[in-house]
Amino acid sequence: MFGKKNQHIVVAGMGQGGMVAAIYLGKAGFDVDIYEKAKEGEVSHPWTDDTMTAVFKRCGIPMPPKEAYSQKNNWLWVSPGVDRRLMFPGTAPGVEISVDRHMLSDHFAKLATEAGCKVHYETPVKGLLTDGDKIIGIELQNGKKVKADLVIDALGIDSVLRPQAPKKWEIQAHEADDDLMLGYRQFYKRNPGYVPPEYPDYRACMYLKHLGGAGLSWCNLSPDNNMDMLIGRLYGMTKDEMEVMQKDLFKRHADQLTDEVVIPGRFVKIGTRYSLSKIVADGYALVGDSAFMSIPLTGCGIESSMDAGVYLSETIIANKGKEMTAKNLWPYQVKYFKKKAGLFAAIDVLKRWVLNLDGDLVDWVFYKVATPKIVESISGMMFRGMNPIVGVLNILSSLPFSLARLFSKPSILKEIGVTLKAAVHALLVAMKIPKKYDEDKIHQWVMDYETSFPHKK
Ligand SMILES: Cc1cc2nc3c(=O)[nH]c(=O)nc-3n(C[C@H](O)[C@H](O)[C@H](O)COP(=O)(O)OP(=O)(O)OC[C@H]3O[C@@H](n4cnc5c(N)ncnc54)[C@H](O)[C@@H]3O)c2cc1C
Repeated sequence: MFGKKNQHIVVAGMGQGGMVAAIYLGKAGFDVDIYEKAKEGEVSHPWTDDTMTAVFKRCGIPMPPKEAYSQKNNWLWVSPGVDRRLMFPGTAPGVEISVDRHMLSDHFAKLATEAGCKVHYETPVKGLLTDGDKIIGIELQNGKKVKADLVIDALGIDSVLRPQAPKKWEIQAHEADDDLMLGYRQFYKRNPGYVPPEYPDYRACMYLKHLGGAGLSWCNLSPDNNMDMLIGRLYGMTKDEMEVMQKDLFKRHADQLTDEVVIPGRFVKIGTRYSLSKIVADGYALVGDSAFMSIPLTGCGIESSMDAGVYLSETIIANKGKEMTAKNLWPYQVKYFKKKAGLFAAIDVLKRWVLNLDGDLVDWVFYKVATPKIVESISGMMFRGMNPIVGVLNILSSLPFSLARLFSKPSILKEIGVTLKAAVHALLVAMKIPKKYDEDKIHQWVMDYETSFPHKK
């Protein structure tokens, strides 16, 4: 009766990584409180996003209920010159789904509650409570102070807590302009006269460097048969710029769209950069978008956030009963960097190069180098169980033509070489994260890691 109290964990925000960690920690006997600003049933975005189903199995989390998801669309990639289109065949049925974000959040909340966690909806978090350099809890917007052995920051990209972490921990407070894509997403009623093609034909168009800008836009048929339009730009965009691109998509998809708005537009930030270099401190750990864990090019972060939630909970459970210091939490960061952040670092370097390429060049690569056979074979082997021997033979049969075309532009070959070298360098630096917690070595590694990325001046 008078035994030691369970360690108290606060999960700030219902981001997926925080929820996965909460579920495991609740089951392991920790006292877990989750604070979320949104209302029950309205957590996350009012639309569907895509994710691989394998992540649920890998994380030991049951799939959301069937009504929460549907088969992901196939995408047609459109190069900046627009007349050049490349079909990227999607995954086999069941491999990748479009999942309703509200329902996914409800699913996590149910599992967390069953694991003994307490979910506090409509309870915005305001700040960190600190004692010197140590984080000892949070302050809620209602003024209440909540003490905790560990605060898990799952507040997403605009985390109010991250900028408040004591300086000692070198947790980057604010991102650069080119770390984010600013998106504007709006849903329209589909033209009732438009008959959508059946799977496996494409139902979605992805415009790379739409109208020449650094970014991408899409217009696709959403699972509820509405038209989903997104305009995304690195370095941000004004409302006027967004409207020009919106008009252009309306013109191109005139047969599919009506101007009746089903889900009003909203500007959203999408993380498109390398993972944060420091994700732990004494009493504090970041997971998901608050630590920039999404894939740099696509901004997809559901999967990596869930995986990271598992790594975090494993580390916490291994330290059960001990103080949640940066040193004890360090294995979480090491595992995340070895499994995820290394690859993301390389993708980040490639992404910065691709999105800043001249539009004509991207057109040329689409048309002359990335033949449908190559694209189909790569995606077939990755996602649709294509026999690797068949896939490789397919690629080899097309490769000489693609390579010959590349060799006709030596300046590009040189650029590709330099960029690949920089990408491999970023990967190797990320993977060289010190295994043991040594503040001097970590500081040096953070400096090396941060300088691996060519930010736009
Ligand atoms: C337009 C768009 C499209 C995307 N498409 C995909 C996709 O197809 N596939 C994919 O994998 N990813 C996609 N992503 C990215 C994906 O949403 C995130 O990477 C993923 O959800 C991980 O984020 P998170 O869980 O850390 O944070 P979030 O999902 O942002 O969750 C943070 C939570 O914290 C809550 N919160 C925020 N501030 C406070 C506060 N002060 N107090 C209390 N609660 C607070 C929020 O309400 C929210 O519930 C997309 C993102 C956008 C914006």
